Amino acid sequence: MKVFILLTAIVVTLNLGLATWDIQAGDPGTLPPNELGQIMILEYHLIGYPEGRWCRTPENFRKDLELLYENGYYPIPLQDLLSGEIKAPVGKTPFVITFDDSSAGQFRYLKKGDRLEIDPQSGVGVMEQFKKEHPDFPVTATFYVLPGTGKSRLFGQEEYIQEKLNFLAQNGYEIGNHSYGHENLGKVDDTAVQKQLALAVQAIQKYLPGYQVRSFALPFGVHPKNRMLAREGEYQGFKYRHNSVMLVGSGPVPSPYSAEFNPYQLERIQAGDTPWGPKSVVERYRKNPSLRFVSDGDPLKITVSQELQGKLSRNLSRKFQVVVSNNKSN
Ligand SMILES: [Zn+2]
Repeated sequence: MKVFILLTAIVVTLNLGLATWDIQAGDPGTLPPNELGQIMILEYHLIGYPEGRWCRTPENFRKDLELLYENGYYPIPLQDLLSGEIKAPVGKTPFVITFDDSSAGQFRYLKKGDRLEIDPQSGVGVMEQFKKEHPDFPVTATFYVLPGTGKSRLFGQEEYIQEKLNFLAQNGYEIGNHSYGHENLGKVDDTAVQKQLALAVQAIQKYLPGYQVRSFALPFGVHPKNRMLAREGEYQGFKYRHNSVMLVGSGPVPSPYSAEFNPYQLERIQAGDTPWGPKSVVERYRKNPSLRFVSDGDPLKITVSQELQGKLSRNLSRKFQVVVSNNKSN
């Protein structure tokens, strides 16, 4: 009797599993899993007016999210990309959002009577609203902040720094290192590089004690002469260590399961209506879907096509189950 119930349970589970797969894989426009495809890491700077090389209007930022939503993309945290545990539903293409320089337009509070409201026209405001309207699209981002002095110091409103950093840390956003004062790290000595990076972490931890700053975006996209110092270093006994280093441009990154994936050399897609912007990449992937990472829906399973399997990095099988599919990826 017990065996019978157990078997029934297994059969039912299997059936449910298959049914879900069929429904989702059968959706018009969904693609077969291709987990060795490319992934976009979007890069924003100012959110405000007018639209320009380093500025995206809130309306256009929202349009970017709509474009991605409507074309089967799915926002994931940078740290999930790095760990390879990608929690995108089957058939979706994960992407990552990043912001550099912590200007006020990225995250602004407005005072309404005696309470604070996130400005709906700021980057965080746009994302929070979009998330509310699209519960199946968990928008999140990594903010590479500048804690040094100046008008971009931690989103520009001195009186609300604590609230903002609390909000980010408590609502699934990530706070990353962009150096203390946006120094060109290629032009200074090793001590100055380590000082810039260590002071930034210390300043963030002053507001968020114990917060682990794990990712670093190179100011101006320039490496320090000693590249190892972008990953880890020490200043006056204070140690920092990053698990990823972001460049400024200018293309998608390989799959985290690919032997070509280098977390210390991650290219990004600068947002804007340019030939290298997200819209152009979405269009390129529409014409050539085999370029694009498509999730199998299981964070611990890696589904790859036979023809690409040689690109897999080694040692994946310790953590993941690798499945080679006969699907042509387009
Ligand atoms: Zn910058």
